[in-house]
Amino acid sequence: MANTRKQLLDLLKLPENSECADCGEPDPEWVSCTLGVFICLQCSGIHRSPSIGKVKSVQLDNWEDDTVQFLKEHGNKKAKEKYEAFVPPFYYRPRARDCMVLKEQWIKAKYEREEFTSDEESPYTTGHKEGNLWKKGRDRKQFLERRFVFSGREKVLKYYINNHADPKGTIPIQSLNATFQAEKIGHAHGLEITYIKDEQTRNLFVYHDEGQEIVTWFNVLRAARFTYLKGAFPAVPEEELIPRITRNYSKAGYMEKTGPRQREAFRKRWFNLDSEERKLLYYKKPLDAFPQGGIFLGSKEQGYRVLEGLPEGTKGNKRDAVIIIKTPDREFKLTCENTTDQKEWLKALTQVISRPTTAQDMDGNSTTSRLTLCEC
Ligand SMILES: [Zn+2]
Repeated sequence: MANTRKQLLDLLKLPENSECADCGEPDPEWVSCTLGVFICLQCSGIHRSPSIGKVKSVQLDNWEDDTVQFLKEHGNKKAKEKYEAFVPPFYYRPRARDCMVLKEQWIKAKYEREEFTSDEESPYTTGHKEGNLWKKGRDRKQFLERRFVFSGREKVLKYYINNHADPKGTIPIQSLNATFQAEKIGHAHGLEITYIKDEQTRNLFVYHDEGQEIVTWFNVLRAARFTYLKGAFPAVPEEELIPRITRNYSKAGYMEKTGPRQREAFRKRWFNLDSEERKLLYYKKPLDAFPQGGIFLGSKEQGYRVLEGLPEGTKGNKRDAVIIIKTPDREFKLTCENTTDQKEWLKALTQVISRPTTAQDMDGNSTTSRLTLCEC
């Protein structure tokens, strides 16, 4: 028995088993005995379904010789070769920090539906999808059922009220972003869709009660975005386009900001930092349809700076978690909720300005929104 446990722990030390097979979390402590993979606690909860298999804890359970032998013959590397053989490049592979619905559907797509074991046509690239989603009203809190139609030929996502012939909204794939925001939206399957409308950023908040359906929508939109990016930037390698298909905010949350003269009262605003697009947008409330304003973040070479603390010459200010963003045109002064939060914002903002601007930063949608960033 002691020898069996040692063999098990030795398997866990192999580099290929040092991360969760599904989300990459380091030091997995659970095992799917059905598939022979090492997984983290959270993913083990998803694996523990009758259609996927049995799970066991490395530490808490008893281990038989033949189960350890089975693990020896399988393991994370072999499982990846089989179940991830044909993952399309646009498909979102969730990481440990991602929301539950993405991990759950990734695991089900891999092992239950075996979507990636052969190169049959992907369900995400058929060029058309329609169905109902719950959408938050623009100016109110309620979610209402709306019919969404994606057309690959027209490169748009449209939504309709009931059976109206004319769409209520038309979202161009060119400027679309989608990111799961379960906590902010207040639904485990909450998806935030952002796009540029009349040169202004617009946010939509939707969900579907079925996890598979909302994740399918997400990957259909990602497939369309990937096609668009490849066409728009034919010289850019695929691996550089993939992070731009959709972007999660590298940081989001409340800060307070003052006006251009820096003598105005500080007001609490919700900020979203889209690092890939080099944009820091702020909203009166987290679920607002339109931002109040935003800051384009160029590079250090272009004269952008992110600084901690008070600017010179400001006296008698009691706030200590201050961030200064200097752009060639003006200076923004923001206060964070505490110094931990301040450090995270400083790190996230500094990362953006430390990265040189590229040709894609001058892409239509970034340029448009940069020119029209206003302050209301
Ligand atoms: Zn995991």
